[in-house]
Formats: sequence, C-alpha cells, structure tokens
Amino acid sequence: MKTKKEKTFNMRKCPKCSSEDVGVVIGENGTWECHKCKWKGRDIKEEELTEEEFMKHLDEKGEEIS
Ligand SMILES: [Zn+2]
Repeated sequence: MKTKKEKTFNMRKCPKCSSEDVGVVIGENGTWECHKCKWKGRDIKEEELTEEEFMKHLDEKGEEIS
C-alpha cells in the first residue's frame, strides 16, 4: 500500500459531545445532526488530519482498516 504525504482527511465532529457520529440532515442542506446527542445545527466542528494522524486515530478507536 502506497502512502501519499500530502493527503489529508477531513473529520467532522459534533461541537457538543465531540462524537464523529454525525451526518447531514436529509432535505436540509448544510444542516448537520449528531446521532449520539441529537445536536442539530450548521456549525459542525471540522478537523483536518494528515494520513498519519488519521491512521493513528483509527488505531486508537480500534477500528480495522481495510
Ligand atoms: Zn453530539
């Protein structure tokens, strides 16, 4: 597997509970919703991670990388 150094990943988090379990509300363009704490709004928290940071993050979460 090749790794690109310039690659970054955008992660979106709930501003209230910092959960990554967020999604766009269907029918409401630009509105986000947290599936964990039911927060809803437009000011979603965005974080830019490098691939290295992203992989580390996945590691910490214990998710398998396919
Ligand atoms: Zn939340």
